[in-house]
Amino acid sequence: MRLVLLGPPGAGKGTQALLISEKYGIPHISTGDILREAVKQGTSLGQKAQEYMNKGELVPDEIVIGIVVERIQQPDCNNGFMLDGFPRTVVQAEALDEELRKRKQELDAVLSFEVDEDEIVRRISGRRICEKCGAVYNINTEPTTKKEVCDQCGGKLITRPDDEPEAVRRRLQVYKSQTEPLINYYKQKSILKPIKAVGTVEEIFSRIEKALGEGVPS
Ligand code: AMP
Repeated sequence: MRLVLLGPPGAGKGTQALLISEKYGIPHISTGDILREAVKQGTSLGQKAQEYMNKGELVPDEIVIGIVVERIQQPDCNNGFMLDGFPRTVVQAEALDEELRKRKQELDAVLSFEVDEDEIVRRISGRRICEKCGAVYNINTEPTTKKEVCDQCGGKLITRPDDEPEAVRRRLQVYKSQTEPLINYYKQKSILKPIKAVGTVEEIFSRIEKALGEGVPS
């Protein structure tokens, strides 16, 4: 199964991605995670990407397309994959289509996470990530057992630089102008599955299972 998760920042894509990956046995490919890891490691990719990311801007298409094309060629993607945070522009979506066409493959579904802007701001302002392992928490809805300490590895929790209010505002603007047009792009291809992304993690996941239940080969 080949899936794309589409939705604004803070829509809960990453949280649901872990559950989807486990249930359907497909790798979770998050361009945001790949880029954050490159920044952490200080690679040349990370150095190029950091400035855009901290400001809430998109990293240039050619860089991100290169990352994804290389990643989906890995053997663990032979039976499918799930892209989280990619594509984010029409140029990226067309590049993905082109790459899949070359391999005589296609996307099975695009899950479009729907959540209103007030809720997004509330979620992002509470989001914290572990500086060591990248695990994601929310001080309002999903706190750690010990304050500011990761439950999984004991690392320190931090706010992502691009979760600071000014960068969040910019990311939402960028989402609206650059990424939202993809909703129509995929609607026209008849593979868009709108998912109401409010409620508990379990409720949202069961909507996803239902949406994927119809006509998607495993
Ligand atoms: P995310 O974790 O998906 O919210 O991504 C964090 C940041 O990484 C974004 O705000 C962008 O700066 C960058 N990024 C992630 N995915 C992409 C993409 N597909 N195209 C351009 N920039 C991206």
